[in-house]
Amino acid sequence: MFLFYVKNVTRHVFKSNNRSCGIDLGVSRFVTINTGKIIQFPQQNKIAQLNNRIRRLQRKLSKKEFGSKNYNKIKKKIAQTYEKRHNILDYHFYKIAQRLTEKYQVICMETLNIKGMLKNSRLSKSIQEKSWHMFTKIIEQKAYEHGRKLIHINQWYPSSKTCNNCQYYNEDLTLNNRTWTCTQCGNKHDRDINAAKNIHHEGLKKIKQNHY
Ligand SMILES: [Zn+2]
Repeated sequence: MFLFYVKNVTRHVFKSNNRSCGIDLGVSRFVTINTGKIIQFPQQNKIAQLNNRIRRLQRKLSKKEFGSKNYNKIKKKIAQTYEKRHNILDYHFYKIAQRLTEKYQVICMETLNIKGMLKNSRLSKSIQEKSWHMFTKIIEQKAYEHGRKLIHINQWYPSSKTCNNCQYYNEDLTLNNRTWTCTQCGNKHDRDINAAKNIHHEGLKKIKQNHY
């Protein structure tokens, strides 16, 4: 175990191991690991509640006179609610990133392709986008701290549409197909787990080709 300081970050480098994983980032299933393990988006109800509060306060704010005492009071409340939401997500994302970096030496993930994401009715699009960016940054930081390798897969790699078993490309797959059967090899796929497996393979391929 080594402890040293770089750029004000305390690095706590873990003993290296030979475990690697691929992760697929999604909406209701926040993180899907190639092993089949799923980590749900944290505190969905609480986040939805805070989002509603922000919307309510913003409506209230719009009716107040700019710069008035009440206006400033509501503005402060909005800022506090944003901060609360940020802190909850931050806390849970750190926990998830910590768990992943504790376990795996190599973590492969896609650079985000927000356009291809199915909407989650309980969370607004903007909070989902923010969350993915936040989580990506946090996991990058954790990987650095713990001496782990994070491998980014090109966002145009068709991780969902490729059969991880025979590499058949299923161009008919839509965002609503949560499961599908490969017409070439007959394998049944869970969309996200299949994607995570492909991301894992691609990442390991990159390592072999010395791109990392
Ligand atoms: Zn197949």
